[in-house]
Amino acid sequence: MARIADIRSLRAAQRPSPPDLVRWSLGLLSYGRVRLSLRVDGGEVVEGVEDYWALLALGCRSAPVSDGEREVVDVPLEALGFYDEVSGEGPRVYADVLALLRGDRPTPLVMVKKVGEARIWAKLEWYNPLSLSIKDRTALNMVDWSSEDVRGRRVYEASSSNTGVALAALSRLYGFTARIYIPETAEPFGPELARLLGAEVVVKGGSTSELRPLVEEEARRDGAIVLNQFQNYLNPLAHIRWTAKEIDYQSRMGGLRLRAVFVTMGTGGHAAGVATYFALRRPEVRVVGVQPAEGSSIPGIKRQVDWPWGQLQRPREVIEVSDEEALRVSIGLAREVGLLFGPSGGAALAAALRSISGEEGDYVIVVPDHGVKYLRLYSEFLGQGSVGLSAKGPR
Ligand code: PLP
Repeated sequence: MARIADIRSLRAAQRPSPPDLVRWSLGLLSYGRVRLSLRVDGGEVVEGVEDYWALLALGCRSAPVSDGEREVVDVPLEALGFYDEVSGEGPRVYADVLALLRGDRPTPLVMVKKVGEARIWAKLEWYNPLSLSIKDRTALNMVDWSSEDVRGRRVYEASSSNTGVALAALSRLYGFTARIYIPETAEPFGPELARLLGAEVVVKGGSTSELRPLVEEEARRDGAIVLNQFQNYLNPLAHIRWTAKEIDYQSRMGGLRLRAVFVTMGTGGHAAGVATYFALRRPEVRVVGVQPAEGSSIPGIKRQVDWPWGQLQRPREVIEVSDEEALRVSIGLAREVGLLFGPSGGAALAAALRSISGEEGDYVIVVPDHGVKYLRLYSEFLGQGSVGLSAKGPR
């Protein structure tokens, strides 16, 4: 007889490659149910290995198993603890930092603005504890699922800042040496924090795209691992498993009539994860990508040229925001509700405001990090007496 087993009590022979993992996860996510039980032998999964890995990657807590022949069970993911990891119950006491990282979900969703009959909700990603940004999710998933064990190794990565800080912090917890390559154009917090956390830091070049060949070359020379957030499917998978699922769960529990989610794009990791999740599970929700306008520079995000996430969805709509608009809108909101978003969060809000005029319902913006990291940028902007703003307040 098939039974439901705790997924942590099971194991399988070989870790799949990230492309296989993403393929199996998407299959399971789109079907939404496990059709056949996994055949286990002494805790080892011997048939249905694809479903086992996909259930793990999607954050399910249990799996249907049988000791003999596989059986038709047809259980929905919800009955296998699909939402457990993001449902945020309990006193928030954690035995160690890894338990905090893995267990302290979801990040908050707060209503920040009403425009006519439309409400804008901000998902505050600075509540992630290592880099105080959304990139903790990417870094954790890449390190946890890396096919090579990172312990005792050297790990090299190019980062606009936040992934680098998260990896620097994780290097202490997992016992690897992190070497982070950050462009000269980045704000000071990236190199300074990564160094403070014990990483080697190289500050060079004008962009992460420019740094990537150097990272590969030096990693080859030094026998280091490159996790490569720009092409590693564990990056978008982190956002399917956590960011998107949290938005789904929170919007349902909060009684939101969710119409659209606005996501900014750097690696495109969270855009791909959120767009894919909603396309498969709630296709009525639009996912809108946000990128800097031509000639504008907004920390952490860039204009998307090639889409590196082949089999994953790309936001069908893209809105462009200038750096001036992102900073202005961000400061305007801070002076209304007291929350200072980082500039990319300001860009997400600016895009939402532009796109929803005259509409009704609920809209979520993903706010990647907090404005305290960009004080110099904000102060300079205010100092320039920018349109619509003065040092005293919005006009
Ligand atoms: N905003 C900030 C501040 C970031 O640091 C990043 C990525 O580094 C993003 C937005 C974009 O996120 P993603 O890489 O998932 O596209």
